[in-house]
Amino acid sequence: MIDDETLEKYREAGTIAAKVISEGKKGIRVGASYLEVVELIEGRVAEEGAGLAFPLNLSLNEDAAHDTASAGDARLFTRGDVAKLDLGVHIDGYIADTATTVDLGTNPSLVEASYQALEHAIGKVRPGVTAGELGAAIQYEIEIRGFRPVANLTGHGLDQYIIHKPPTIPNIGTAGGTVLEEGMVFAIEPFASTGSGRVKEKTRKEIYQQISNKPVRIPSGRAVMECITDRRGLPFARRWLPNKKSDIALPGLVRTHNLHVYPVLADTAGSLVSQHEHTLVVTDTGCIVTTR
Ligand code: MN
Ligand code: MN
Repeated sequence: MIDDETLEKYREAGTIAAKVISEGKKGIRVGASYLEVVELIEGRVAEEGAGLAFPLNLSLNEDAAHDTASAGDARLFTRGDVAKLDLGVHIDGYIADTATTVDLGTNPSLVEASYQALEHAIGKVRPGVTAGELGAAIQYEIEIRGFRPVANLTGHGLDQYIIHKPPTIPNIGTAGGTVLEEGMVFAIEPFASTGSGRVKEKTRKEIYQQISNKPVRIPSGRAVMECITDRRGLPFARRWLPNKKSDIALPGLVRTHNLHVYPVLADTAGSLVSQHEHTLVVTDTGCIVTTR
């Protein structure tokens, strides 16, 4: 169950996330700077008095998730781009996770597929329904439009300063899964693809997360760990680190399991992926969507 004070924090985070993402998506136009869009949106969250639950994910075309700007990122949006904006906002650690897609090409039905999948899944949420039934609704809405759901990306439970925990909400129909209960908080995030419907890791790595407090011997590594302690285990961007030395320390910190890395996840080269996501709280008769 969830107390009123906590629910209020989830709702406040959700209201801010909804406002910032709907304003921020207007900045995605042909010729606009990728880095400027990312920095503008991240800055708006701070102006609203909230924290970022993770760096703004802005993933293009076949990239489904986990891309964000690097320092000095020179990319510009180009005609045909399908851009997924995935924003995480928190109030006192209580997270709103929401995503939308901006189409700079001519792919309205691809965008509609993940949108309708999300809406239909949300419409099914109430105590007693299984996560697998939500996945089946998602799969149906995407496949009926001629696309593939991304099977190896899922929705996920949320908790204070925790971005991924059970239940897992699949994007395909599965037998059973978690039975939903009143008070559960989770994100549903369908991805629709023109590609294989599975993502793989790319070599590009921009987003990291602290996963242990093990002591670090190397000074540059220790400096990175000191600079991210205020994240309280929430992910951070390589771009947020102060200097080049920190970059060099990152692979070692991943190897020693001080950090987890989130490589960019992509479907097949040349494919296009759309995504929509909302965070919700299960009530006795349905759910409250916090991120509308
Ligand atoms: Mn998200
Ligand atoms: Mn999510």
